[in-house]
Amino acid sequence: MIAENVRQTLAQLAGGNAQGEPITLVAATKTRTPEEINAAIAAGITDIGENRVQEFTQKFDAVQGARRHFIGHLQTNKVKYLIGKCDLIHSLDRYELANELQKRAAAAGWVANCLVEINIGSELSKSGFSPETAEKAVQDLRAYPNLRLCGLMAMLPISEDSEYLRALCLSMRDIYDTIKKTDKNFRFLSMGMSGDWQLCVECGSNMIRLGTALFGPRRSPAAESRP
Ligand SMILES: *Cc1c(COP(=O)(O)O)cnc(C)c1O
Repeated sequence: MIAENVRQTLAQLAGGNAQGEPITLVAATKTRTPEEINAAIAAGITDIGENRVQEFTQKFDAVQGARRHFIGHLQTNKVKYLIGKCDLIHSLDRYELANELQKRAAAAGWVANCLVEINIGSELSKSGFSPETAEKAVQDLRAYPNLRLCGLMAMLPISEDSEYLRALCLSMRDIYDTIKKTDKNFRFLSMGMSGDWQLCVECGSNMIRLGTALFGPRRSPAAESRP
């Protein structure tokens, strides 16, 4: 079933997004076993993302052959476990985290590829810079020599109002395009999960993070919440 889901999804993404850019599919692997993740990789997944450092570390050696992303909220005391091991951190959401990442990355002689997380729906339950301060945040974060800013990440709110969601998505793409004009490293807009990725891709997302759509429903609901 995993292999079939992966193949079908990759086929759907083959045409690229609304801008004609290729779309990177990141398999969101929280709660999945190394066997399940390796099955997804064998079927064509090239990028995998964990949202807890403990799972990232536990499965690291048992999973092979894919780029590693970190997509969840990152506590500063866990940063050290990702140094040198993570290809893209999607959740650069505050200066305190940037400070810790900078310190650890510099000490290791490593550069952390990061996406700046934007709280697009201005939700209290989510972290990230506000859409209004996104440009300023990116400007500030460029001053950290061991962070390479590669784009933006956002999570849409839960809503039945698809026009509202579309407006949020389009405004994310706007912010992304504005910053991209002055930054050659900017190339990823990571936005879209199993329930909303079609809309996100229509509005210009070029990186989506899918869990349930690839692996089926998660076993433990408790594991879904961000720490
Ligand atoms: C779990 C998770 C996803 C994928 O969620 P699905 O709804 O299962 O596709 C995407 N992004 C983040 C940050 C996640 O934690």
